[in-house]
Amino acid sequence: MRKTLQHRFVEFVPDHIEDGILYVSLTYCTAIHLCPCGCGNEVVTPLSPTDWKLTFDGRTISLSPSIGNWNFKCQSHYWIKRNEIIYASRWDKDEIRAGRKKDKKRKKKFYKSSSKNHSTAKSPKRKKGLMSFIESLFF
Ligand SMILES: [Zn+2]
Repeated sequence: MRKTLQHRFVEFVPDHIEDGILYVSLTYCTAIHLCPCGCGNEVVTPLSPTDWKLTFDGRTISLSPSIGNWNFKCQSHYWIKRNEIIYASRWDKDEIRAGRKKDKKRKKKFYKSSSKNHSTAKSPKRKKGLMSFIESLFF
């Protein structure tokens, strides 16, 4: 099992995902890597207020919350913290169900409040401005 990942900022996610690389596309607000257990599955982590958050400290990347590959046979569960993979315990079925429920609730809550307060946030112009702002933080 792999213990570290190297990050790579890309505009487009490449066709061939290299093992041990965490690809980050700010353009598409997504990150992708191969499951570190070695099963070869691609793990896509969308970056959004209700999905994953990416922290870049100038050298390393962290993702939050943890990544649970419940749809894969391996069922691996881990954190990516400062380019290190910290394996967590596997969840049983009840825990997975509870986690999914919690996730749904959080999304519902978020979209409810965001539609009230940020009704213009969906315009493409504004999104572009936000993206270049985020990019200016990273580059
Ligand atoms: Zn795996």
